[in-house]
Amino acid sequence: MSDLRTHAAEIAEQFSDHLDVDEAEVEERLENLVEEYRVPVEEARRSVINSYLEEAGLERDEIGRGGNDEVRLADIDEDEQWIDVTAKVVELWEPRSESIAQVGLLGDESGRTKFVAFETSDLPKLEEGAVYRLGNVVTDEYQGNFSVKLNKTTSIEELDEEIEVGDDSTTVEGALVDIQSGSGLIKRCPEEGCTRVLQNGRCSEHGDVDGEFDLRIKGVLDDGERVYEIIFGRDVTEDLTEITLDEAQQMAMDALDTTVVVDEMREDLLGTYYRVSGPELGRYVLADEVERLTEPADPEAVLIKARSI
Ligand SMILES: [Zn+2]
Repeated sequence: MSDLRTHAAEIAEQFSDHLDVDEAEVEERLENLVEEYRVPVEEARRSVINSYLEEAGLERDEIGRGGNDEVRLADIDEDEQWIDVTAKVVELWEPRSESIAQVGLLGDESGRTKFVAFETSDLPKLEEGAVYRLGNVVTDEYQGNFSVKLNKTTSIEELDEEIEVGDDSTTVEGALVDIQSGSGLIKRCPEEGCTRVLQNGRCSEHGDVDGEFDLRIKGVLDDGERVYEIIFGRDVTEDLTEITLDEAQQMAMDALDTTVVVDEMREDLLGTYYRVSGPELGRYVLADEVERLTEPADPEAVLIKARSI
């Protein structure tokens, strides 16, 4: 295929839903511009597309480029790209503007991305929990966050498959400057699906219960510019402190006091630099992986900083 014929095929494809355009006609118009008038190919292409847009009464962003790449949500890293995605509707939000038909979160194995559909596009509504192949969506960037916009040309095909939506993992580094209350050896509510941390033997939902022991740390990591609240679950806490849950219970029994555990953890860990990776949940980073970067820094300096938070 000649270069012009390839361009002609692409243009005809872009307008196939809107106009009765055949490739030969598009090629002829391109050829005319390029060969008769010595117009550069890209400019000829733009000019021909514009004339068809006018004929169809469409805006530039209402037609796709055809033959998009299927892109994973976490791989979106450019503004205004025409792409196809296969994703699950993880959440629908209440639109804040009348011009928005739907807004929410799409998810695939790689992560989650916001999507927006506008009223003017007049698309069928997406359902929460359903998986779709969305053809011809446009990427959008705002302050480094990417989203996708559905538009008049977006094709929506519901798929009969399940997608395991991945967590967007984040990685932060810094000095552990505080270990907050509710850390160390804790008790959780044993009620099915509750797991709330007990305060003086009471669950805020279920009242007095016989709690189950657990270990965790709610820590604050400071990278010098901002602080991150990190939750270290039992496994990570055991690795980090080299204190197992059994040992922690023994320590508490010997001392007749559970707070000895968190006191020892504070002494061991504060001032040490860590690299923590894991999903973000609200204001917390849930530590999946933790790497110790240094031996403890000057504890005095760190404590001064900790008190200032
Ligand atoms: Zn409970």
